[in-house]
Amino acid sequence: MGFLIGLPQFVASHNESDAAVPSETIRVAILKNVPSVTVDGDGIIATRENGSAVAVTTPVLIKTGKNSVIVNGTAYRRLTFSGASVLYVNGKPYRGVAEASPGDKGVLVVNELLLEEYLVGLINCEISSAWPIEAVKAQAVIARTYALNRKEARGTSLYHLESSVIDQVYDGCEIEDSRARRAVSDTAGEVLSHNGSIIQAFYHSNCGGKTEASENVWGARLPYLAGVDCTYCLAAASSAWEAKLSLAEMEERMKAAGYKVSGVTDIHPGVRNNRGRLKNVMVVSSRAETTLTGDQFRKVMGYSVIKSTNFTVRVANGEAVFSGLGNGHGVGLCQWGAKQRALDGFGYAEILSYYYPGTELKKLSDIR
Ligand SMILES: [Zn+2]
Repeated sequence: MGFLIGLPQFVASHNESDAAVPSETIRVAILKNVPSVTVDGDGIIATRENGSAVAVTTPVLIKTGKNSVIVNGTAYRRLTFSGASVLYVNGKPYRGVAEASPGDKGVLVVNELLLEEYLVGLINCEISSAWPIEAVKAQAVIARTYALNRKEARGTSLYHLESSVIDQVYDGCEIEDSRARRAVSDTAGEVLSHNGSIIQAFYHSNCGGKTEASENVWGARLPYLAGVDCTYCLAAASSAWEAKLSLAEMEERMKAAGYKVSGVTDIHPGVRNNRGRLKNVMVVSSRAETTLTGDQFRKVMGYSVIKSTNFTVRVANGEAVFSGLGNGHGVGLCQWGAKQRALDGFGYAEILSYYYPGTELKKLSDIR
């Protein structure tokens, strides 16, 4: 674990209603492999890995060195920054402390902060806090559950979470607001559990009608991620998508991803799995046929282009036209479906038990 120098004063600044907020912390990689980074803010204190203070003037410019980070020409194995209030990392505000250390190809910056504060910042990166409050609360619980599950799994690593779609999107505290804070504090410390363990609370934007079974995406079968029917998200205009790609463009993307294809002439959807999504997609070229899994196909063509593996395709005049439903891998809670369920009058606990059947909503303190 890293240093928590900035946290005590930060906790003390909370008002009374936050007194019950757990002291659990989380470590999030906010920058990876950057050549340099600046840290700024009021009353910045820098400490090195042995705990001794380093005199710095703000803004602090941190550069990458050989297995080190460099400030004012001096190399350090690790520097931890705390401030009187928020820290500005490359101009973006973050709560808690920021730790700079050498990564594989540049500086790694890890933001360590109270889990509950992380959640307040995260809400508007993942959904909009203007959504019905029960849907925002459901998001707070699953993001907390997901983060704690990753923390358990990666306990000894330098950080617990990425700040991108690989884990959960997080961009600091700039977009915190009172509704996001309310959803987090109203569900303080609550997590989803199964057989006494914190679950893998995967979630996604829009399932397009049926949520996906975990084994269809990652091979591992989890009883609470077997997939449920969800017609609620279909009310969202964003449920249906269309994408057009020329066969030449698709060939370029295949080659860029390392596939040996030449003269792509057609695209054939393969068989569908028990949740209605394509198991595989065949790319036909003049000499051979290349089979990709549905997820590989999305990755090669772009996750934001082919938004789900539930699509049909027609090829004409050298162009493939894809028509699909849903957005994302489809496993676990469907965010747009949860929004509609909240509009229909369901509470967050009911929404969660629908998308993660067989799980129990518990206080973290009752699990550990
Ligand atoms: Zn859905």
